[in-house]
Amino acid sequence: STTLAEADPDIFGGIQGELRRQQEQIELIASENIVSRAVLEAQGSVLTNKYAEGYPGRRYYGGCEYVDVTEDLARSRAKQLFGCAFANVQPHSGAQANQAVFQALLTPGDTFLGMDLACGGHLTHGSPANQSGKWFRPVTYKVREDDHLIDYDHVAQMAEQEKPKLILAGASAYSRHIDFKRFREIADSVGAYLMVDMAHYAGLIAGGVYPDPLPHAHVVTTTTHKTLRGPRGGMVLSNDIELGKKINSAVFPGLQGGPLEHVIAAKAVAFGEALKPEFKAYARQVVDNAQALAAVLVERGAAIVSGGTDSHLMLVDLRPKGVTGKATEAAMEQALMTCNKNGVPFDTAPFTVTSGVRLGTPAGTTRGFGVSEFQQVGHWIADVIDSMKGTDEADAGVSQRVAGEVRELTRRFPIYG
Ligand code: PLP
Repeated sequence: STTLAEADPDIFGGIQGELRRQQEQIELIASENIVSRAVLEAQGSVLTNKYAEGYPGRRYYGGCEYVDVTEDLARSRAKQLFGCAFANVQPHSGAQANQAVFQALLTPGDTFLGMDLACGGHLTHGSPANQSGKWFRPVTYKVREDDHLIDYDHVAQMAEQEKPKLILAGASAYSRHIDFKRFREIADSVGAYLMVDMAHYAGLIAGGVYPDPLPHAHVVTTTTHKTLRGPRGGMVLSNDIELGKKINSAVFPGLQGGPLEHVIAAKAVAFGEALKPEFKAYARQVVDNAQALAAVLVERGAAIVSGGTDSHLMLVDLRPKGVTGKATEAAMEQALMTCNKNGVPFDTAPFTVTSGVRLGTPAGTTRGFGVSEFQQVGHWIADVIDSMKGTDEADAGVSQRVAGEVRELTRRFPIYG
C-alpha cells in the first residue's frame, strides 16, 4: 500500500499546494465552501470502486447491498432536510440535474422561460452556448433596470406572451429573496411546470433563512457543494412521486451510467450535518456576515447591485470606483482574497472583463468568521480597490500589507489543521 505522496509526487504536490492555498486565502467565491473531514473521508472511500447502475433495490449489478444502504440514507436525509416526498441524489453535477429535468419534462424545441444570464441566471438556464439553449427555445426575463429586482409582472407578461412549457426560477448571482409562490401562480396561469434551481440557496433553505421553494415548485434542482456544504454534485427533489419516476428515468438511463456512490455517501454525510441544529446557526451567520460585508463596501463607496443582500452573496458594482471586475479579481488575489469577476445587470463591459465582482460568505463563515471578521474583509477589499486608483493594478505596498494581515487572520481560523 503505497501512499499518494510516494506513488505520484506530482499529483500529491498539486493537492498539497491547493490545501495550502485554501488554508491561506480568504475564499469569497459565493459558490464554494469548505467541507468537513467526514465528507472528505466518505468521498475518498472504497465506494469509488463500485458499479451500481439503477437505484437502491433495483440495480443492474451484484454486490450492491452496502451502496444501497448509503444511497438510501442520502435520499431519506435529503427528503427530511427539505421536507419533500422524492429525491434523486445521483446527478453528477448541478448542470446534469437541470438537464435531467429538461429531459423528463420537455421535448427538443419546447419553449421555457428562465432568468437572463446577464441578470444573474445560470448558463444551464438557456444560454445559447449550453445544451439548454441549443436544443430548446429559451425566452428570458430580466431584472428591473432601476432596482435590479425580479419584476414579477414582467415575468407574468412574458409567460402570457410566450406560453412556455416550463418556467425556471433560481439564479447564480441574485442576492435577494425570490418569491416562489408568485412564480407558481404565474406558471399555473399558463399551465407551465415550475422548476426551481436552488443551487445557490440550498444551504440557506435547509437552515430556514431563505424562502423554501418546495411547497410551490413541481420540481427543484440543486448542487450539493455550495451553501449546502457537501461534495461537488447535484440532486433533484419533488413532492410529486409520479414526476419523480420520470426524473429517475431521465437521470439513469437517460443521461448517466453508474452513479458516483462515493460522492453519494459524502452527500449523505453532508445532509446529516445539515440536519443538526448547528447548521441553522451557520446559515443565519452566513447571511448576517454577507449583510455586514455589503454594508462596509457601501460605506467605502462601492455600489451593491439591488442595494444589498438577503442571502450569502452580493454583486459589487465597481463602476463608481472606475475599475473593472477582471482587474479587481486579480488585485484581490494578490492580497490573498479569492473571488470571481461577474457582469452586473445591463453591463456594457465585455463578459471577459465585466464591471463587477461576486462575493460570498459561505466558506469564510465555515472557517469561523463572524461579523467583525467580515467587516475587516470589507475594509481590506476597499483598501485594495482604492489603491488601484482607477487603473488595473493595486498599489504594491497596500497589496502586501493586506496580504500580511489576511495571513494573520487565516492563521487564527485554521482549516484542515
Ligand atoms: N445552477 C446554478 C444556479 C448554479 O449556480 C450552478 C453552478 O454554478 C449550476 C446550476 C451548475 O452546477 P455544476 O457546476 O455542479 O454543474
